[in-house]
Amino acid sequence: MSDIRNNWSKEEILAIYNKPLLELVFEAATMHRKYHNPREVQVSSLISIKTGGCSEDCGYCPQSAKYQTDVKAQKMMGVEEVLQQAKNAKEGGASRMCLGAAWREVRDNRDFDNVLEMVRGINEMDMEVCCTLGMVTEEQAKRLADAGLYAYNHNVDTSEEHYGDVISTRTYQDRLNTHQHVRKAGVSLCSGGIIGLGENEVDRIGMLHTLANQESHPESVPINALVPVAGTPMENQEKVSIWEMVRMIATARLVMPKSVVRLSAGRLDMSKEGQALCFMAGAGSIFAGDKLLTTPNPSQNEDMELFQILGLNSTEPFSKGSKPEIKMSYKESSKKQEMEAKVKQWKEEMATTKK
Ligand code: SF4
Repeated sequence: MSDIRNNWSKEEILAIYNKPLLELVFEAATMHRKYHNPREVQVSSLISIKTGGCSEDCGYCPQSAKYQTDVKAQKMMGVEEVLQQAKNAKEGGASRMCLGAAWREVRDNRDFDNVLEMVRGINEMDMEVCCTLGMVTEEQAKRLADAGLYAYNHNVDTSEEHYGDVISTRTYQDRLNTHQHVRKAGVSLCSGGIIGLGENEVDRIGMLHTLANQESHPESVPINALVPVAGTPMENQEKVSIWEMVRMIATARLVMPKSVVRLSAGRLDMSKEGQALCFMAGAGSIFAGDKLLTTPNPSQNEDMELFQILGLNSTEPFSKGSKPEIKMSYKESSKKQEMEAKVKQWKEEMATTKK
């Protein structure tokens, strides 16, 4: 039977998830070696370009305006500031830049125009650019593609059955519709979920079942462990164990062999040994930087130390796909020349630093 399938039954996935742990890790590690270089891990960096004040009610999220948390709504970041941060991340070893905005959906306004300029500027720095901006229409996804977007993140979060217990302001089908729009625009899809949302084992399997039975598997599958935040409805959820994370990563690896499985939120609570086991089980990417949107993450130095111990290298950008061509021109404004000059200057600086 082919490794790449989209006709998994829930029973098959559950049987994989419940294999004796070391056997599961061995099988996942073997599959990982077939489709990926096990010495390489992609380092991604995440910037929250618009923090807080979101109209959605995702029960785990401190950025929802419906909950009283320490996260305060902020103005959207400027294009230049974002490009400067992307440059710093690239110099720190990141090959992918993810831009996150706390929006229910993208609106066709100036903020979106600015996002398009950020995407274009980062693409020109030879980094993969990913956006997570909420729901998008096909037309908006095409505009992002024309600006040079490499990937769009839109997690399913959990199973369809458990979804309503976590979020009430949109449906599971809304999520899947955005996936379709992203696919139609020719942008690669990043979609995974979170464990620790009060779901049961069958929900975890349900989430993987949804992703693994898509016509094409998401190119990227983030597996997050809930980081409970005071003030959100999930603040008292029990933290998930490392063994549950390893099982999820290994199972994702086996049912979606070509996808890059991302070890995402929750790493701060994991030991180096626990993270090493996740890499063994098929995780091929991490987020670097001391914050993941609003929750704490290990520092870049700690990550580099871990890479050294384990003999891992960070992947080069576009190692799994070609660089998207930019088809959008900068806005015809005085900003145009300014931005082009800035990006040119940064590219020259980065080339000098490399020598
Ligand atoms: S997860 Fe995203 S959509 Fe949900 S409340 Fe947070 S920022 Fe809004």
